[in-house]
Amino acid sequence: RLKEGRALALDVWSIFSAVNLPADCINLGQGYMNFAPPKWVTTAAEQALQSVPPNHYSHPRGRIRLREAIKAFYGPQLQRDLDVESEILVTSGANEGQYSVFTAFLEQGDEVIMFEPFFDQYLPSVTFNGGKPVYVPLHPPKDSVTKPTSNDWTIDIDEVRAAVTPRTKMIIVNTPHNPIGKVFTRKELESIAAIAEEFNLLVMSDEVYDCLVFDGKEHVRIATLPGMWDRTVTVGSAGKAFAATGWRVGWLIGPQSIIQPTLAATTRIVFCTNSPLQEAAAAGLEQAKERKFFETQREEYTERRKVLSDAFDELGLKYTQPEGSYFILLDISQVKFPEDYPFPQSVLGRGRDFRACWFIAMEIGVSSIPVSEFYCEEHANIGEAYARFAFCKDLDTLREAAKRLHKLK
Ligand code: GLN
Repeated sequence: RLKEGRALALDVWSIFSAVNLPADCINLGQGYMNFAPPKWVTTAAEQALQSVPPNHYSHPRGRIRLREAIKAFYGPQLQRDLDVESEILVTSGANEGQYSVFTAFLEQGDEVIMFEPFFDQYLPSVTFNGGKPVYVPLHPPKDSVTKPTSNDWTIDIDEVRAAVTPRTKMIIVNTPHNPIGKVFTRKELESIAAIAEEFNLLVMSDEVYDCLVFDGKEHVRIATLPGMWDRTVTVGSAGKAFAATGWRVGWLIGPQSIIQPTLAATTRIVFCTNSPLQEAAAAGLEQAKERKFFETQREEYTERRKVLSDAFDELGLKYTQPEGSYFILLDISQVKFPEDYPFPQSVLGRGRDFRACWFIAMEIGVSSIPVSEFYCEEHANIGEAYARFAFCKDLDTLREAAKRLHKLK
Protein backbone atom coordinates (compact mmCIF):
# COMPACT_ATOMS: atom_id res chain seq x y z
CA ARG A 1 0.00 0.00 0.00
CA LEU A 2 1.32 3.40 -0.98
CA LYS A 3 2.14 5.77 1.83
CA GLU A 4 -0.19 8.74 2.03
CA GLY A 5 0.66 12.38 1.65
CA ARG A 6 2.34 14.96 -0.47
CA ALA A 7 5.79 13.36 -0.44
CA LEU A 8 4.83 10.64 -2.92
CA ALA A 9 2.42 12.71 -5.02
CA LEU A 10 3.39 13.64 -8.57
CA ASP A 11 6.06 16.32 -8.29
CA VAL A 12 6.07 19.61 -10.13
CA TRP A 13 9.15 18.69 -12.20
CA SER A 14 7.34 15.70 -13.66
CA ILE A 15 4.14 17.64 -14.36
CA PHE A 16 6.00 20.48 -16.09
CA SER A 17 8.57 18.22 -17.68
CA ALA A 18 9.37 18.85 -21.36
CA VAL A 19 7.74 15.55 -22.34
CA ASN A 20 4.34 16.91 -21.27
CA LEU A 21 4.72 20.21 -23.10
CA PRO A 22 4.62 21.11 -26.80
CA ALA A 23 7.95 20.51 -28.54
CA ASP A 24 8.45 24.19 -29.34
CA CYS A 25 7.69 25.39 -25.82
CA ILE A 26 10.66 27.24 -24.32
CA ASN A 27 11.52 25.54 -21.08
CA LEU A 28 12.16 28.06 -18.32
CA GLY A 29 10.77 25.61 -15.78
CA GLN A 30 13.20 23.20 -14.16
CA GLY A 31 16.52 24.92 -13.65
CA TYR A 32 18.97 23.40 -16.11
CA MET A 33 21.13 25.02 -18.73
CA ASN A 34 20.69 24.77 -22.50
CA PHE A 35 24.42 25.31 -23.02
CA ALA A 36 27.31 22.92 -22.51
CA PRO A 37 29.74 22.87 -19.59
CA PRO A 38 33.06 24.62 -20.32
CA LYS A 39 35.28 22.77 -22.79
CA TRP A 40 38.17 22.40 -20.32
CA VAL A 41 35.78 20.68 -17.93
CA THR A 42 34.31 18.26 -20.47
CA THR A 43 37.81 17.48 -21.76
CA ALA A 44 38.73 16.35 -18.24
CA ALA A 45 35.62 14.13 -18.26
CA GLU A 46 36.65 12.57 -21.58
CA GLN A 47 40.16 11.93 -20.32
CA ALA A 48 38.81 10.33 -17.16
CA LEU A 49 36.64 8.00 -19.22
CA GLN A 50 39.70 6.79 -21.06
CA SER A 51 41.75 5.75 -18.08
CA VAL A 52 41.13 2.88 -15.69
CA PRO A 53 40.98 4.11 -12.06
CA PRO A 54 38.35 6.83 -12.51
CA ASN A 55 35.96 4.34 -14.08
CA HIS A 56 35.72 2.25 -10.96
CA TYR A 57 34.19 2.81 -7.56
CA SER A 58 35.63 5.83 -5.96
CA HIS A 59 36.21 6.00 -2.25
CA PRO A 60 32.80 6.72 -0.68
CA ARG A 61 34.25 10.02 0.52
CA GLY A 62 34.88 10.95 -3.11
CA ARG A 63 37.93 10.84 -5.37
CA ILE A 64 40.92 12.39 -3.71
CA ARG A 65 41.58 14.81 -6.58
CA LEU A 66 38.13 16.33 -6.15
CA ARG A 67 38.42 16.47 -2.38
CA GLU A 68 41.76 18.26 -2.77
CA ALA A 69 40.20 20.68 -5.25
CA ILE A 70 37.29 21.38 -2.86
CA LYS A 71 39.79 21.98 -0.06
CA ALA A 72 41.76 24.45 -2.19
CA PHE A 73 38.66 26.27 -3.45
CA TYR A 74 36.53 26.41 -0.29
CA GLY A 75 39.24 26.42 2.38
CA PRO A 76 40.05 30.15 2.04
CA GLN A 77 36.36 31.05 1.86
CA LEU A 78 35.60 29.03 4.96
CA GLN A 79 38.78 30.33 6.57
CA ARG A 80 39.89 26.81 7.41
CA ASP A 81 42.58 24.35 6.49
CA LEU A 82 40.08 21.64 5.52
CA ASP A 83 40.96 18.02 6.23
CA VAL A 84 40.20 16.01 3.08
CA GLU A 85 39.89 12.80 5.11
CA SER A 86 37.26 13.93 7.55
CA GLU A 87 35.69 17.25 6.58
CA ILE A 88 34.72 16.83 2.91
CA LEU A 89 32.26 14.36 1.41
CA VAL A 90 31.46 14.09 -2.30
CA THR A 91 27.82 13.16 -2.94
CA SER A 92 25.61 12.19 -5.87
CA GLY A 93 24.35 15.70 -6.33
CA ALA A 94 23.55 18.08 -3.50
CA ASN A 95 20.15 16.40 -3.10
CA GLU A 96 21.62 13.07 -2.14
CA GLY A 97 24.08 14.74 0.19
CA GLN A 98 21.29 16.49 2.05
CA TYR A 99 19.20 13.35 2.15
CA SER A 100 22.13 11.52 3.70
CA VAL A 101 22.52 14.19 6.39
CA PHE A 102 18.86 13.67 7.32
CA THR A 103 19.33 9.90 7.27
CA ALA A 104 22.31 10.21 9.56
CA PHE A 105 20.79 12.64 12.05
CA LEU A 106 17.00 12.51 12.15
CA GLU A 107 15.16 10.30 14.56
CA GLN A 108 11.42 9.73 14.38
CA GLY A 109 9.65 12.99 15.16
CA ASP A 110 12.70 15.24 15.07
CA GLU A 111 11.79 18.67 13.79
CA VAL A 112 13.57 20.51 11.01
CA ILE A 113 12.95 24.23 10.60
CA MET A 114 12.91 25.56 7.05
CA PHE A 115 12.01 28.91 5.57
CA GLU A 116 8.94 28.87 3.39
CA PRO A 117 8.94 28.90 0.39
CA PHE A 118 11.51 26.09 0.47
CA PHE A 119 13.22 24.04 -2.24
CA ASP A 120 10.57 21.33 -2.65
CA GLN A 121 12.94 18.42 -2.19
CA TYR A 122 13.51 19.24 1.49
CA LEU A 123 10.01 18.17 2.44
CA PRO A 124 10.14 14.52 1.28
CA SER A 125 13.81 14.26 2.26
CA VAL A 126 12.88 15.15 5.83
CA THR A 127 9.67 13.11 6.06
CA PHE A 128 11.14 9.98 4.42
CA ASN A 129 13.70 10.03 7.21
CA GLY A 130 11.08 10.29 9.94
CA GLY A 131 11.50 14.03 10.48
CA LYS A 132 8.85 16.72 10.73
CA PRO A 133 9.19 19.92 8.70
CA VAL A 134 8.42 23.11 10.59
CA TYR A 135 7.89 26.20 8.46
CA VAL A 136 8.91 29.78 9.12
CA PRO A 137 7.74 32.32 6.54
CA LEU A 138 9.85 34.42 4.27
CA HIS A 139 7.49 37.38 4.19
CA PRO A 140 6.70 38.60 0.65
CA PRO A 141 7.53 42.20 -0.30
CA LYS A 142 5.02 44.74 0.96
CA ASP A 143 2.52 45.95 -1.65
CA SER A 144 3.98 49.45 -1.36
CA VAL A 145 7.30 48.22 -2.79
CA THR A 146 6.92 48.84 -6.51
CA LYS A 147 10.13 47.16 -7.71
CA PRO A 148 10.92 44.45 -5.17
CA THR A 149 14.21 42.62 -4.99
CA SER A 150 14.76 39.28 -3.29
CA ASN A 151 15.99 41.26 -0.29
CA ASP A 152 12.41 42.51 0.19
CA TRP A 153 11.46 38.97 1.21
CA THR A 154 12.17 39.14 4.90
CA ILE A 155 12.46 36.88 7.92
CA ASP A 156 11.19 37.67 11.38
CA ILE A 157 13.73 36.21 13.75
CA ASP A 158 11.13 36.03 16.56
CA GLU A 159 9.18 33.64 14.36
CA VAL A 160 12.26 31.45 14.02
CA ARG A 161 12.69 31.44 17.78
CA ALA A 162 9.01 30.65 18.30
CA ALA A 163 9.32 27.66 15.95
CA VAL A 164 11.93 25.97 18.13
CA THR A 165 10.66 23.16 20.37
CA PRO A 166 12.46 20.50 22.42
CA ARG A 167 12.23 18.27 19.32
CA THR A 168 13.99 20.73 16.97
CA LYS A 169 17.19 19.19 15.64
CA MET A 170 18.10 21.19 12.60
CA ILE A 171 17.51 24.35 10.65
CA ILE A 172 17.91 24.61 6.89
CA VAL A 173 19.36 27.78 5.45
CA ASN A 174 19.31 28.19 1.68
CA THR A 175 21.32 31.11 0.33
CA PRO A 176 21.09 32.13 -2.50
CA HIS A 177 17.56 30.90 -2.13
CA ASN A 178 15.57 28.73 -4.50
CA PRO A 179 12.96 29.88 -5.64
CA ILE A 180 13.31 33.51 -4.48
CA GLY A 181 16.95 34.26 -5.22
CA LYS A 182 17.35 35.86 -1.80
CA VAL A 183 20.92 36.26 -0.63
CA PHE A 184 20.70 36.20 3.15
CA THR A 185 22.47 39.14 4.74
CA ARG A 186 25.21 38.78 7.33
CA LYS A 187 22.82 40.22 9.91
CA GLU A 188 20.09 37.69 9.11
CA LEU A 189 22.58 34.83 9.25
CA GLU A 190 23.99 36.10 12.53
CA SER A 191 20.54 36.09 14.07
CA ILE A 192 19.88 32.55 12.79
CA ALA A 193 23.30 31.47 14.09
CA ALA A 194 22.50 32.87 17.54
CA ILE A 195 19.36 30.74 17.70
CA ALA A 196 21.24 27.65 16.51
CA GLU A 197 23.78 28.23 19.29
CA GLU A 198 21.19 28.91 21.96
CA PHE A 199 19.16 25.78 21.20
CA ASN A 200 22.05 23.57 20.09
CA LEU A 201 20.76 23.02 16.54
CA LEU A 202 22.52 21.66 13.49
CA VAL A 203 22.51 23.93 10.46
CA MET A 204 22.25 22.63 6.93
CA SER A 205 23.39 25.45 4.70
CA ASP A 206 22.38 24.78 1.13
CA GLU A 207 24.63 27.09 -0.90
CA VAL A 208 24.45 25.41 -4.30
CA TYR A 209 23.97 28.79 -6.01
CA ASP A 210 26.97 30.34 -4.25
CA CYS A 211 28.66 31.11 -7.58
CA LEU A 212 25.63 33.13 -8.73
CA VAL A 213 25.41 36.22 -6.56
CA PHE A 214 24.83 39.50 -8.38
CA ASP A 215 24.93 43.26 -7.92
CA GLY A 216 28.05 43.13 -5.73
CA LYS A 217 26.16 41.39 -2.92
CA GLU A 218 28.21 39.44 -0.41
CA HIS A 219 27.67 35.69 -0.15
CA VAL A 220 28.10 34.96 3.54
CA ARG A 221 28.72 31.38 4.60
CA ILE A 222 27.03 30.79 7.93
CA ALA A 223 29.76 28.25 8.77
CA THR A 224 32.22 31.15 9.03
CA LEU A 225 30.29 32.96 11.77
CA PRO A 226 31.72 32.61 15.29
CA GLY A 227 31.05 29.19 16.78
CA MET A 228 29.19 27.93 13.72
CA TRP A 229 31.70 25.61 12.07
CA ASP A 230 31.04 22.82 14.57
CA ARG A 231 27.31 22.72 13.90
CA THR A 232 27.10 23.53 10.19
CA VAL A 233 27.25 21.45 7.05
CA THR A 234 27.76 23.50 3.87
CA VAL A 235 26.31 22.07 0.65
CA GLY A 236 27.79 22.68 -2.82
CA SER A 237 27.12 21.51 -6.37
CA ALA A 238 29.17 20.98 -9.51
CA GLY A 239 25.96 21.01 -11.53
CA LYS A 240 25.21 24.65 -10.75
CA ALA A 241 28.85 25.73 -10.92
CA PHE A 242 29.70 24.16 -14.28
CA ALA A 243 26.38 23.91 -16.15
CA ALA A 244 26.25 20.17 -15.55
CA THR A 245 23.11 19.52 -13.49
CA GLY A 246 22.78 15.98 -14.86
CA TRP A 247 26.19 14.95 -13.62
CA ARG A 248 24.90 14.61 -10.08
CA VAL A 249 28.12 15.63 -8.40
CA GLY A 250 27.81 17.62 -5.21
CA TRP A 251 29.64 17.91 -1.89
CA LEU A 252 29.27 18.50 1.80
CA ILE A 253 31.79 20.36 3.90
CA GLY A 254 31.67 20.35 7.68
CA PRO A 255 33.16 19.08 10.91
CA GLN A 256 34.04 15.42 11.30
CA SER A 257 31.14 15.03 13.75
CA ILE A 258 28.70 15.70 10.87
CA ILE A 259 30.63 14.30 7.91
CA GLN A 260 31.46 10.92 9.51
CA PRO A 261 27.88 9.73 10.18
CA THR A 262 26.76 11.21 6.86
CA LEU A 263 29.49 9.22 5.11
CA ALA A 264 28.06 6.07 6.68
CA ALA A 265 24.61 7.00 5.36
CA THR A 266 25.75 7.91 1.85
CA THR A 267 27.81 4.70 1.63
CA ARG A 268 24.67 2.69 2.36
CA ILE A 269 22.53 4.66 -0.06
CA VAL A 270 24.70 5.03 -3.18
CA PHE A 271 28.08 3.67 -2.01
CA CYS A 272 29.89 6.29 -4.05
CA THR A 273 29.32 9.04 -6.56
CA ASN A 274 30.03 8.41 -10.24
CA SER A 275 33.80 8.51 -10.57
CA PRO A 276 34.77 10.01 -13.96
CA LEU A 277 32.68 13.14 -13.53
CA GLN A 278 34.32 13.78 -10.18
CA GLU A 279 37.56 14.22 -12.12
CA ALA A 280 35.84 16.77 -14.36
CA ALA A 281 34.41 18.66 -11.37
CA ALA A 282 37.91 18.67 -9.88
CA ALA A 283 39.36 20.15 -13.09
CA GLY A 284 36.62 22.79 -12.93
CA LEU A 285 37.45 23.88 -9.41
CA GLU A 286 41.22 23.65 -10.01
CA GLN A 287 41.18 25.99 -12.98
CA ALA A 288 38.24 28.28 -12.22
CA LYS A 289 40.26 30.95 -10.46
CA GLU A 290 42.98 31.33 -13.05
CA ARG A 291 40.41 31.41 -15.84
CA LYS A 292 38.25 33.91 -13.94
CA PHE A 293 35.48 31.50 -14.77
CA PHE A 294 33.03 32.43 -12.03
CA GLU A 295 33.49 36.17 -12.60
CA THR A 296 32.70 35.78 -16.30
CA GLN A 297 29.83 33.43 -15.61
CA ARG A 298 28.33 35.92 -13.16
CA GLU A 299 28.42 38.63 -15.82
CA GLU A 300 26.75 36.34 -18.32
CA TYR A 301 24.01 35.51 -15.87
CA THR A 302 23.52 39.18 -15.04
CA GLU A 303 22.85 39.78 -18.74
CA ARG A 304 20.49 36.80 -18.90
CA ARG A 305 18.58 38.06 -15.88
CA LYS A 306 18.18 41.45 -17.57
CA VAL A 307 16.45 39.98 -20.64
CA LEU A 308 13.65 38.59 -18.52
CA SER A 309 13.41 41.47 -16.05
CA ASP A 310 13.29 44.00 -18.93
CA ALA A 311 10.48 42.01 -20.51
CA PHE A 312 8.49 41.99 -17.26
CA ASP A 313 9.16 45.72 -16.82
CA GLU A 314 7.83 46.44 -20.31
CA LEU A 315 4.75 44.40 -19.54
CA GLY A 316 4.23 46.26 -16.29
CA LEU A 317 4.14 42.97 -14.38
CA LYS A 318 5.52 42.81 -10.87
CA TYR A 319 8.42 40.45 -10.24
CA THR A 320 11.13 39.90 -7.68
CA GLN A 321 14.56 40.92 -8.94
CA PRO A 322 16.80 38.09 -7.65
CA GLU A 323 20.15 38.99 -6.09
CA GLY A 324 21.31 35.41 -6.51
CA SER A 325 20.45 32.06 -8.17
CA TYR A 326 18.96 31.85 -11.68
CA PHE A 327 15.29 32.24 -10.90
CA ILE A 328 12.87 35.16 -11.21
CA LEU A 329 9.49 35.12 -9.50
CA LEU A 330 6.75 36.73 -11.53
CA ASP A 331 3.54 37.87 -9.88
CA ILE A 332 0.88 36.10 -11.93
CA SER A 333 -2.09 37.03 -9.79
CA GLN A 334 -3.33 39.39 -12.53
CA VAL A 335 -2.64 37.01 -15.43
CA LYS A 336 -5.95 35.81 -16.83
CA PHE A 337 -6.81 32.46 -18.39
CA PRO A 338 -10.05 30.66 -19.18
CA GLU A 339 -11.03 28.39 -16.30
CA ASP A 340 -12.65 25.98 -18.77
CA TYR A 341 -9.32 25.42 -20.56
CA PRO A 342 -8.61 21.69 -21.09
CA PHE A 343 -6.22 21.32 -18.16
CA PRO A 344 -4.80 17.86 -17.39
CA GLN A 345 -5.89 16.18 -14.17
CA SER A 346 -2.43 16.63 -12.61
CA VAL A 347 -2.85 20.39 -12.83
CA LEU A 348 -6.54 20.58 -11.94
CA GLY A 349 -5.98 19.12 -8.51
CA ARG A 350 -3.55 21.92 -7.59
CA GLY A 351 -3.50 25.69 -7.07
CA ARG A 352 -4.37 28.50 -9.47
CA ASP A 353 -0.65 28.93 -10.26
CA PHE A 354 -0.53 25.39 -11.70
CA ARG A 355 -3.32 26.30 -14.10
CA ALA A 356 -1.77 29.66 -14.95
CA CYS A 357 1.66 28.10 -15.64
CA TRP A 358 0.06 25.36 -17.71
CA PHE A 359 -1.89 27.90 -19.76
CA ILE A 360 1.21 30.09 -20.29
CA ALA A 361 3.22 27.06 -21.40
CA MET A 362 0.57 25.79 -23.81
CA GLU A 363 -0.67 29.07 -25.26
CA ILE A 364 2.32 31.40 -24.99
CA GLY A 365 4.99 28.77 -25.38
CA VAL A 366 7.10 29.44 -22.28
CA SER A 367 7.10 27.07 -19.34
CA SER A 368 7.70 28.04 -15.73
CA ILE A 369 7.21 26.47 -12.32
CA PRO A 370 4.17 27.19 -10.11
CA VAL A 371 5.46 28.44 -6.79
CA SER A 372 2.83 26.84 -4.53
CA GLU A 373 4.92 23.65 -4.88
CA PHE A 374 7.49 25.38 -2.66
CA TYR A 375 4.93 25.79 0.14
CA CYS A 376 3.32 23.25 2.44
CA GLU A 377 -0.33 22.48 1.69
CA GLU A 378 -1.59 24.77 4.41
CA HIS A 379 0.23 27.82 3.01
CA ALA A 380 0.03 26.95 -0.69
CA ASN A 381 -2.31 29.89 -1.33
CA ILE A 382 0.59 32.33 -0.74
CA GLY A 383 2.64 30.68 -3.48
CA GLU A 384 -0.27 30.68 -5.92
CA ALA A 385 0.49 34.31 -6.73
CA TYR A 386 3.81 33.45 -8.41
CA ALA A 387 5.47 31.59 -11.27
CA ARG A 388 9.21 30.89 -11.24
CA PHE A 389 11.13 31.46 -14.48
CA ALA A 390 14.67 30.08 -14.83
CA PHE A 391 17.19 32.17 -16.77
CA CYS A 392 19.95 29.56 -17.08
CA LYS A 393 19.51 29.63 -20.87
CA ASP A 394 21.42 31.27 -23.72
CA LEU A 395 20.52 34.85 -24.64
CA ASP A 396 18.77 33.98 -27.91
CA THR A 397 16.44 31.59 -26.12
CA LEU A 398 15.70 34.13 -23.41
CA ARG A 399 15.04 36.85 -26.01
CA GLU A 400 12.60 34.60 -27.82
CA ALA A 401 10.92 33.78 -24.50
CA ALA A 402 10.72 37.51 -23.71
CA LYS A 403 9.09 38.14 -27.07
CA ARG A 404 6.51 35.45 -26.50
CA LEU A 405 5.79 36.64 -22.98
CA HIS A 406 4.58 39.96 -24.41
CA LYS A 407 1.39 38.08 -25.18
CA LEU A 408 0.74 37.95 -21.44
CA LYS A 409 -0.50 41.53 -21.69
N1 GLN B 1 17.17 22.56 -8.60
C1 GLN B 1 16.43 22.54 -9.83
C2 GLN B 1 15.32 23.52 -9.83
O1 GLN B 1 14.94 24.02 -8.82
C3 GLN B 1 15.93 21.13 -10.14
C4 GLN B 1 15.10 20.49 -9.11
C5 GLN B 1 15.21 18.99 -8.94
O2 GLN B 1 16.06 18.50 -8.23
N2 GLN B 1 14.33 18.26 -9.50
O3 GLN B 1 14.81 23.82 -10.87
